[in-house]
Amino acid sequence: MAEVLVLVEHADGEPKKVTGELLTLARELGEPAAVFTGAPGTYAKAKAYLAEYGAAKVYVVESDDVAEYVGAPIAEVLAKLVGDAAPTAVLVAATADSREIAARTAAKTDSGLIWDAVAVTGDLVATQGVFGGSTIVQSKVTKGTPVIVVRPNSTAPVAAPGSPAEVTVDIAISDVAKSAKIVDRVAEAKSGRPDLTEAQVVVSGGRGLGAAEHFALVEKLADTLGAAVGASRAATDAGWYPHQNQVGQTGKTVSPQLYIAVGISGAIQHRAGMQTSKTIVAINKDPEAPIFEFADYGLVGDLFNVVPQLTDEIEKRKG
Ligand SMILES: Cc1cc2nc3c(=O)[nH]c(=O)nc-3n(C[C@H](O)[C@H](O)[C@H](O)COP(=O)(O)OP(=O)(O)OC[C@H]3O[C@@H](n4cnc5c(N)ncnc54)[C@H](O)[C@@H]3O)c2cc1C
Repeated sequence: MAEVLVLVEHADGEPKKVTGELLTLARELGEPAAVFTGAPGTYAKAKAYLAEYGAAKVYVVESDDVAEYVGAPIAEVLAKLVGDAAPTAVLVAATADSREIAARTAAKTDSGLIWDAVAVTGDLVATQGVFGGSTIVQSKVTKGTPVIVVRPNSTAPVAAPGSPAEVTVDIAISDVAKSAKIVDRVAEAKSGRPDLTEAQVVVSGGRGLGAAEHFALVEKLADTLGAAVGASRAATDAGWYPHQNQVGQTGKTVSPQLYIAVGISGAIQHRAGMQTSKTIVAINKDPEAPIFEFADYGLVGDLFNVVPQLTDEIEKRKG
């Protein structure tokens, strides 16, 4: 069975949940082969996780040359492995860094690239949203080795413990790939809530909240559900919530099991970042708000009445 390369998404060696999702998906397409790239000494932290989620092989590159530069060196690693291992496909998570790596890998290997897939079938037909998420299409790469960028939460990670073979990749990263050096890293302030792009449940607030302090309502509902908090651009531009929590075309892309939009109208640019959520609930006082056109459940009402009641009811049921 041909290999399917999965670029390991990790923070200083600790794999992100999306890596388990991609390995699970890769098992349906071929033999999953994880590609770990990181600073010297980081692979040891990822090893057990990759074995747990069924990697049959792990290609390892531990070097400052891949850890200290932006994107391009990792694309060189993937391009080399595409040449050496002739995989069926390369799967990469739809995160800011990995998207760039995917595009570079496709260009280097003269291959087709599929962006923001939310499903991939055994014959490599991917489902993706296009035109700002307004249209869902199925597409298949017809040239080279398909490089497929997959949104987090598209597949539930399923463990399949094994003992992967480890292959140290011998590669000299070119000088041109080392043109952009990372000079500083700042850890995002931790809220104690799940990561927005990986959360199973997201509760987002918009301009309807009217003021920064009213985000407390959204946070309370989110905490009741163990959810991440998102925001519309109107809310982040107003300074009510940090920009890193913005969902949409110019913000983060989320695809949780449940997305609750509170006081958000559903503009196309917001929709682009959340419309592949499995279930969408909208709370809005305007029955004509565009969000009701694509929400699964709509609550027409004043959020200042609805959200506290909803939060209380969920608390009660949790018992
Ligand atoms: C190039 C470009 C990129 C953009 N990128 C993004 C992006 O990434 N993400 C994004 O979100 N937007 C983006 N936008 C902005 C987008 O067009 C909208 O302006 C924005 O999404 C609106 O945010 P909102 O829904 O919070 O506000 P509004 O559109 O003002 O909607 C507020 C909603 O709250 C409801 N409401 C008010 N009071 C209450 C109440 N008491 N109870 C219940 N409901 C209430 C109203 O009925 C209304 O529907 C972008 C725009 C451009 C041009």
